[in-house]
Amino acid sequence: MKFNPKLDGIKLLICDIDNTLADRDSDTLYPHVAEWFRRHPDINRTTASLKFALVTNQGGPACHDAGWSISDQFPSLKQVQDRLAKIVEQLPPWTTLHVCLAYVSKGGTVYIPKNHKPTDLVADPRRRKPSPIMIHEAMEHFNISNPQKVLYVGDRPEDKEAARRAGVRFHQVKDGVSL
Ligand SMILES: [Mg+2]
Repeated sequence: MKFNPKLDGIKLLICDIDNTLADRDSDTLYPHVAEWFRRHPDINRTTASLKFALVTNQGGPACHDAGWSISDQFPSLKQVQDRLAKIVEQLPPWTTLHVCLAYVSKGGTVYIPKNHKPTDLVADPRRRKPSPIMIHEAMEHFNISNPQKVLYVGDRPEDKEAARRAGVRFHQVKDGVSL
């Protein structure tokens, strides 16, 4: 299997989305990822023994609304919401989605989508990975306090760092393929 996270002892699987479950520009799961979800005995639609959550930085809409000369290269909030909804439809019905819409530049400037305030949960820049906050939100939702029962799957250094800070296990992928 190209996508093969080890689930021994794991009660909660948390995945990054972009380049982990689907290409950044696609609203369809990688075929081998979709097959894994279809085949995995603990994550089919009749048993919920494995809890499942998504944790994703989506800074695109903040950049879209920033008024930069390149802002039109970034997706609007509506485009991101529509894409995420389509991806969630392809996943177990108990999936929870934890999104951070804030973008933080290398210099530390915070951008958020228009019509949002930094005090809105979804736009709170403190939640942005590599912060472990969204991993903690998923653990709280499913009432799982032992981080050793949690596996986080992601493709980027901030994914690995968020998992390290949360104390959970980490599985590295690249373009949806397990390394
Ligand atoms: Mg990613």
